Amino acid sequence: MLKVILIVGDGMADRPVSSLGGKTPLEVASKDNICRLASISSLGLWDPIAPGVRPGSDTSHLALFGYDPYRFYPGRGPLEALGVGADLRPGDVALRGNFATVNDELVVVDRRAGRALPENQELVKYLNENIGYIDGVEVKFYSATEHRVAVVLRGTSVSADVSDTDPHEVGSKVLRSKALVNDENAVKTAEIINKITLRTYELLRNHPLNIERVKKGLPPANIVLLRGAGKMIYIPKLQEREDLIVSKCLAISATALIKGVCRLVGFDVITPEGATGGVNSNFLSKAEEAVKAYKAGYDFIYVHIKGTDAAAHDGDVNAKVRVINELDRVVGYIMDRVDLSEVVIVLTADHTTPVEVRDHTGDPVPVLLYSPTMFADGVKDFNERIARKGSLGRLRCSELLYTAFDQAGRVRKFGS
Ligand code: ZN
Ligand code: ZN
Repeated sequence: MLKVILIVGDGMADRPVSSLGGKTPLEVASKDNICRLASISSLGLWDPIAPGVRPGSDTSHLALFGYDPYRFYPGRGPLEALGVGADLRPGDVALRGNFATVNDELVVVDRRAGRALPENQELVKYLNENIGYIDGVEVKFYSATEHRVAVVLRGTSVSADVSDTDPHEVGSKVLRSKALVNDENAVKTAEIINKITLRTYELLRNHPLNIERVKKGLPPANIVLLRGAGKMIYIPKLQEREDLIVSKCLAISATALIKGVCRLVGFDVITPEGATGGVNSNFLSKAEEAVKAYKAGYDFIYVHIKGTDAAAHDGDVNAKVRVINELDRVVGYIMDRVDLSEVVIVLTADHTTPVEVRDHTGDPVPVLLYSPTMFADGVKDFNERIARKGSLGRLRCSELLYTAFDQAGRVRKFGS
């Protein structure tokens, strides 16, 4: 069996950009290594979910790893919680949260409590020490980046059909969570969420760290606003699937949401030194980790580069091109250090994020598939335009993973 290396430029695919004379960032980037790989690969298009469906990075990553997102998407809350290292069991409900600043009437003054919040971990610890259980349901907070947290509710009959307490705007009062369906468990869970929200305010408003923050002229982190409740479902890990043959999987990413998806499906996850998920990340450190993992016997290695998507959301076409230049070095580093007769390499995007749209769209993305056992297209380039002529044609959802895994001898036969 061959090893599979999957490299993704998040949101890398684009549409013709007017400031580039109708070309795409991928077309104008300098990418000698990618072109070198393209010349021995097959190209094509991939619809992460289906034509015209606008994917989130979470749903598209499920598809990328061979899971139908309509069946296996647990929602943003559980994925964020997994991304920050929460222990989640099927049936748990997880929410995303923000430390925020409210006034005495519980009107939101700053949804992010200043955003930079070095006190995050200590405040989370304090909340966990003082809340524990509410109405028989275990409540656990997890610290995330800046002002962010995740909250996990564990108990019989907790429900995810509840609304947010985060009003999503400054100047509005903290909302009361409500049941979104006519169901006793949802009513009970909404009540628990309201109690948690008030408890965080009572515990945080006079906390010494907040008194210090106010003295320094900073907004106090005096409440946790909650949103995006989702229920953890049972999802077989890659290693448990009956259709695939794979044992050691490693994902290299700096993005909490993606790390959550990766953990969910059975990857070991690492964030190398200096990798940030931004446009100035230490890109090469990811390539180094990928090669180490290859040598250490991992048989499915995933490399995630987020900067392309971050630049596109900012509408910064030059930054997006720069990140693709870096991605090219990542590809070159890996190509030159693995035995090309032992690997299948896939290079693609998890969705299109056009710099002129500044958000994800439902366009198909270009795919490059290298396999030592496959007929190459003999094309020495890789971009949205040329991929339309490739021999892979147009793949949808899990078909990309199956195609790559089949080349690697890692798909079990369907039937006898
Ligand atoms: Zn994405
Ligand atoms: Zn995005």
